[in-house]
Amino acid sequence: MHAPSPIKRRFSRQIHVGNVAVGGDAPIAVQSMTNTNTLDVDATVAQIQQLEKAGADIVRVSVPDMDAAESFGKIKQRVDVPLVADIHFDYKIALRVAELGVDCLRINPGNIGREDRVRAVVSAARDNGIPIRIGVNAGSLEKDLQKKYGEPTPAALVESAMRHIDYLDRLDFQEFKVSVKASDVFMAVAAYRDLATRIEQPLHLGITEAGGLRAGTVKSSIGLGMLLMDGIGDTIRVSLAADPVEEIKVGFDMLKSLRLRSKGINFIACPSCSRQNFDVISTMNQLEERLEDVMTPLDVSVIGCVVNGPGEAKETDIGLTGGSPANLVYIDGKPASKLRNDHLVDDLEKLIRDKVRQKQQQQDDMIARSV
Ligand code: SF4
Repeated sequence: MHAPSPIKRRFSRQIHVGNVAVGGDAPIAVQSMTNTNTLDVDATVAQIQQLEKAGADIVRVSVPDMDAAESFGKIKQRVDVPLVADIHFDYKIALRVAELGVDCLRINPGNIGREDRVRAVVSAARDNGIPIRIGVNAGSLEKDLQKKYGEPTPAALVESAMRHIDYLDRLDFQEFKVSVKASDVFMAVAAYRDLATRIEQPLHLGITEAGGLRAGTVKSSIGLGMLLMDGIGDTIRVSLAADPVEEIKVGFDMLKSLRLRSKGINFIACPSCSRQNFDVISTMNQLEERLEDVMTPLDVSVIGCVVNGPGEAKETDIGLTGGSPANLVYIDGKPASKLRNDHLVDDLEKLIRDKVRQKQQQQDDMIARSV
């Protein structure tokens, strides 16, 4: 029910990672990376499927050697979500995964070495319609840039990125995206802002090594939030020292907060206080857990009392306002029914699922009419 996002996105050229468009007017893609051993095909496939279930648009997999490249081929055959192979230095791995159906190569052309090798990788990418992600990281800047700048700086990150881009420009290869990550929010934000004015390719945003679940989420939200507010960013990866599924959830929550993308339920809940007429926190926790499978966008407010409940309910698809002897439910902003505290979560879940079905039906009808 909320208005569209007021953010005006930076113009970027569109590329395709498998069947997922990145850049241009495509929705901002949310991605994560597996942390299983790539040689363990079953474990990696299982994790990719969990990520896909959580809504991941793209998943990256480390491919450190040729054995891992062969595993990557087997993994690729068993999953649907587009896969990026993360490769450092060894061009032969890039050539092999290109044969095995990779959807994007994360490799820095300047690190490949001899010109003929760079040419071979770019040709394989071109022939197979595979884009490249240039990934610059403050922790692994080239030695000469470290010497020139003394320490990682935004200018050093951008200079490194432009060098790698230059390799692709010389071979007239434009199907790439770029990241300039740092664990320092100021550095990453300044580097991305600068880079955004220099190239038209899509930008992959991330605050690298952001930290554990809580601190990493906060740091990433501040860094990526500033950039997204500027309209910068075509795909995001939240780096957390946590289950990668959390990275996907946090990524979508960020985009939902800025109304850049909607997926599943956008909850509005009060922090609760002694005025609450039902247990807001427990209700919220249970609803979040029970409704994780819902992908249809829906705004739901869960507010403990009449101080803010009716106001919030007017802006949501379903709104619960605490009251005594019963709580009031609003549907589409209008008072609809009353729910007592016993069975509150069960009753609310049912109402939400009914509404989801109704919305889904409306969407299906709209699509059927437009075909
Ligand atoms: S909406 Fe009511 S219950 Fe919730 S925090 Fe505010 S006053 Fe407390």
